Amino acid sequence: MSSIIRIYNSSEVNSRTLESISGTLQQVFSAPVAIANISLNLEDAFDSGREQYNSTALLAKILNTFDTSGNKSIVIVDVDLFIPVLTFVFGEAQLDGSAAVVSTHRLKNQYYGLPKNDLLMVERLEKEVVHELGHTFGMYHCQDYECVMKASTYVEEIDLKKSIPCPVCRDYINERCNRKETG
Ligand SMILES: [Zn+2]
Ligand SMILES: [Zn+2]
Repeated sequence: MSSIIRIYNSSEVNSRTLESISGTLQQVFSAPVAIANISLNLEDAFDSGREQYNSTALLAKILNTFDTSGNKSIVIVDVDLFIPVLTFVFGEAQLDGSAAVVSTHRLKNQYYGLPKNDLLMVERLEKEVVHELGHTFGMYHCQDYECVMKASTYVEEIDLKKSIPCPVCRDYINERCNRKETG
């Protein structure tokens, strides 16, 4: 049984970008993709001491807010995310679960004092969305630096990798999604 991937957009990312990302997701995971624009109240996840949003709390909120059963749901936000042991995260996912979250906050060049580059931001977002959803499909981190499942600490590492899995990870996901290779 294949899962439906649901993108819940609670950011300024436009629908053209979401359509393009959803095309990549359909290819990688062989799953239908549904897109919804939402306005998620993030207040509960805000940490006033750090002035950041707790991504684990956000995942819990996603699971409580949406019907995630049998689906893979990813929420896109604009705010700065963290988990307690790290300064920040680009996103977080339940391993072999049904929810993930990704933020555009540190994917924008402006965050680093560099000129705005929308194309680069969209590429980074696509890679991080595929990466976090990969975790929900049970994928672990990969050591291949071009593989989408490579862990990225810095945005430069995101730029090095591709938006698709390496052959080893692709075999895993194909098997997982019960897809037959057709050549
Ligand atoms: Zn990861
Ligand atoms: Zn890989």
